[in-house]
Amino acid sequence: MTEDQVNDKIYFQAEVQQLLNLVIHSLYSEREVFLRELISNASDACGRHNFESLTDSNLREQEQDYSIEVEVSKRHKTIKIRDNGVGMTNDEVVENIGTIARSGTKKFMEALSGDQTDDSNLIGQFGVGFYSAFMIAENVEIHTRKAGQPKENGVYWKSDGVSGYSIEAESIEHHGTEVILTLRKDAKEFLDVDKIRGIIKKYSDHVSLPIRLRKAPTAKKEEEWELANSGSALWTRARKDISDEEYDNFYKTLSYDSETPLLRLHNRVEGRLEYSALLFIPAHAPYDLWDVDRRRGVKLYVRRVYIMDDTENLLPAYLRFVRGIIDSDDLPLNVSREFLQKNKQIERIQSGVVKRLLNELKRLAGKDSEKYQQFWEQFGKVFKEGVTEDADNRKRIAELLRFSTTQTEGSDQTASLQEYVDRMKENQDAIYYITADSHASAEGSPHLEIFRKHDIEVLLLGDPIDEWVVMHLTEFAEKPLKSIAKGDLSLDWLDEEKESEEETTSPKVESLVEKLKSALGERASDVRTTTRLTDSPACLVANEFAPSRNLTRILKATGQNAFDMSPILEINPEHPLIKNLVEKENDLDDWAHVLFDQAALSEGAMLEKPSDYVRRVNALLTDSIGDESSIIITP
Ligand code: ADP
Ligand code: MG
Repeated sequence: MTEDQVNDKIYFQAEVQQLLNLVIHSLYSEREVFLRELISNASDACGRHNFESLTDSNLREQEQDYSIEVEVSKRHKTIKIRDNGVGMTNDEVVENIGTIARSGTKKFMEALSGDQTDDSNLIGQFGVGFYSAFMIAENVEIHTRKAGQPKENGVYWKSDGVSGYSIEAESIEHHGTEVILTLRKDAKEFLDVDKIRGIIKKYSDHVSLPIRLRKAPTAKKEEEWELANSGSALWTRARKDISDEEYDNFYKTLSYDSETPLLRLHNRVEGRLEYSALLFIPAHAPYDLWDVDRRRGVKLYVRRVYIMDDTENLLPAYLRFVRGIIDSDDLPLNVSREFLQKNKQIERIQSGVVKRLLNELKRLAGKDSEKYQQFWEQFGKVFKEGVTEDADNRKRIAELLRFSTTQTEGSDQTASLQEYVDRMKENQDAIYYITADSHASAEGSPHLEIFRKHDIEVLLLGDPIDEWVVMHLTEFAEKPLKSIAKGDLSLDWLDEEKESEEETTSPKVESLVEKLKSALGERASDVRTTTRLTDSPACLVANEFAPSRNLTRILKATGQNAFDMSPILEINPEHPLIKNLVEKENDLDDWAHVLFDQAALSEGAMLEKPSDYVRRVNALLTDSIGDESSIIITP
């Protein structure tokens, strides 16, 4: 940096300005969270220094204990927050503080709801916490030096949070960061040490480094430091000594959630493998549940030292909504991500923790079905992935699944497979299901007609993941799961059906079947009379061993190769339309394709050539108007 550039103002990107403006003006009532954010950054920076210096000894410039210092000066109207963590280089300051390169900022602005309590939690979730300093400060300064860098590579950054910042080099003795806030006139309340102590207790009590607090010393008086947090790792204490409130506060600080969690699990495992786990299931799904770059929810500690955020190895993806910590006594402190990926101890911890979580969910389902239902509504779609991912626990997971069926209310997924099995008809030998692109399409499918007639329950599977669920979950309680839209449907076990099956198809129907077959050509792999329909004229059925038609559609829509096999057209000889067609002598080409397309439409499919369908329907309509009123419409 040249002399000229010193003190030159660098303008914030428009988005940063917009964000700052929002933070300052819309989160007014929750301003105290600024301290939580700055302390959490300081604590992260110490954790990172500790972790990185295990592999890079240059970073450890001297023996030191980590701590965070907070100093309040009424005279100067400042609060200083100091850490001896990893610090930042010039580029890092610019990157982390001054630009919007990080994806969180834009999403944060989109997610703001207007409710100040909710929104103040979003700050932490979206990784824009530093900016909260401007809620109370008219000026923010940063003195920082990266560990391992020469002393003269320190950085001084200053901003009024309105239009931009200045940045220049300075010499800094010790690595780490000091943030100095000069408070706005309307934020003087935060110059009170008692108030600051209260805020630290409220949000940062469990930060595992000491947070020291004091009034700024003056020429006349040296002030004492006091320890402002208890700093003990909550999970190391006995369950009976921890109040619900302490658990909740811990969860809230950890997850930036303002709600009490839905479920909590705290246990310590001793013996060959020793670890503690303190895990929570939130009451509501986080905004980034489906985001591939989402922030990880479970933190790994080794003997009380924070190591990293990494649910990927600590918990399987289908439990990615779980928040909390796992603290291992056995792992080395300098574990790397690569090491974690193939570590046997991590595998054993994971398997133990997953079993406990599943048991806990089972217990919840048994004792509080309303709460369990809330869990399912929030996380069911993700949890279902477990059927495909976690073969070892598939049976346990299957017990926890909930479905919408032809006998449950609306589209809510409330029925367990056990309940389905308990309600099965005498002699019923399979669990029937239909998959579709939505609950509404499943519910409206003509394939359900025969099941409705006989009052046989069918699972209505309208979530995309359901296709994979039924691929992996082939049976439950020794009953196979069977698609009602594939292969031959045999309801032999129903006595009434046996009789009706004895009817043979008339030669006229057989000849209609042949005509339709030749008219459809490649489009249909077969045409046959149905055992599935009561009210509709026709439906499409996938071959027994082909993927379901819904799956083929999903794969195609996501650009994947789908093994596509022409479906079977089944017609209902009892339907008036088919009865009429049986009597028709002339060309059935249009009729064949219209029947086929309608059957596709009724299962929620899109037609490949809607214009062909419309043209054919119009031709048939024109014919029928002609028949009835002798009006001749010329094309
Ligand atoms: P988040 O902490 O969620 O990433 P912040 O806005 O709070 O988002 O901070 C942005 C980034 O600035 C941090 O990720 C970190 O890289 C850097 N940073 C902030 N405070 C410090 C600090 N005290 N020491 C080192 N780096 C810091
Ligand atoms: Mg932060």
